[in-house]
Amino acid sequence: MKVMWDVVSFVNTVRVSDIATYLRCPRKLYFRLRGHEEGPTAEYASHLVLKELALSYPAAINRDDPAGFLAAELDRISAELPAIHPLDSALADGAVGDVRALLPGISERLASAAQRIGKETLVGMITPFQVEPVLVSRRFGITGSPAKLVMRGDIAAPSIIRTGKAPENGIWKNDRLALAAHAIMLEEMNGGKVELGLVEYAKSCEFREAAIRSNDRRVVLQVLKKIHKIIDGTMPDKPGDAPCQNCGHAGLCETKRSLASKFF
Ligand code: SF4
Repeated sequence: MKVMWDVVSFVNTVRVSDIATYLRCPRKLYFRLRGHEEGPTAEYASHLVLKELALSYPAAINRDDPAGFLAAELDRISAELPAIHPLDSALADGAVGDVRALLPGISERLASAAQRIGKETLVGMITPFQVEPVLVSRRFGITGSPAKLVMRGDIAAPSIIRTGKAPENGIWKNDRLALAAHAIMLEEMNGGKVELGLVEYAKSCEFREAAIRSNDRRVVLQVLKKIHKIIDGTMPDKPGDAPCQNCGHAGLCETKRSLASKFF
């Protein structure tokens, strides 16, 4: 299996993360696409550090002292962080501290998962064939980087790392859509049918494979069309259930609303 690399133009190309933003609030995406980024928060910085640490889980599982190994990995990540994810140093230090506090629980849950699933099976399940590959579909105008590609037979399947809470069963809807989007890109780049993807819930050490559903592929394509309209300049209506509390775009959103009511 060979992932094809290509020089692509990302102008007007939707990122997989835009789909989640669109579903949270399409207006938020409108502002972000016009350069109004909200800036990294402490929560986002912790997410980046934990995601980085989760890449070391396959190696940790086979160590005699997984907790010690992960602590050393966190030290390495802390030293390399400025080169990988340039963050304000106070944010970076806070994030490393947050993740360090999670280490005892993570080590315990990783050991339980290895016992439940079987060490060898779990290592095989989450060992990457490739880390953060850049995927693209020219046909649908979308790009994205799953955390990893993992091999299932001779097919490369997408694996995403999530740092929030895992659902009781299965995977969250946004995760299903992200996997479907990655599957669409992989199929265009490599050929073959990608039938499943993996979600690694890093905090709870839940590793869940999920089938790529036709309906999720359909929803991805519908949302892409709507996002392309936003790229072309259409400002979407404010959804009734928009998460406006603590939204970094609230000021802009209100200004646009006042201007619109002035003219209509
Ligand atoms: S203030 Fe509300 S409607 Fe406006 S962008 Fe933020 S979440 Fe969306």
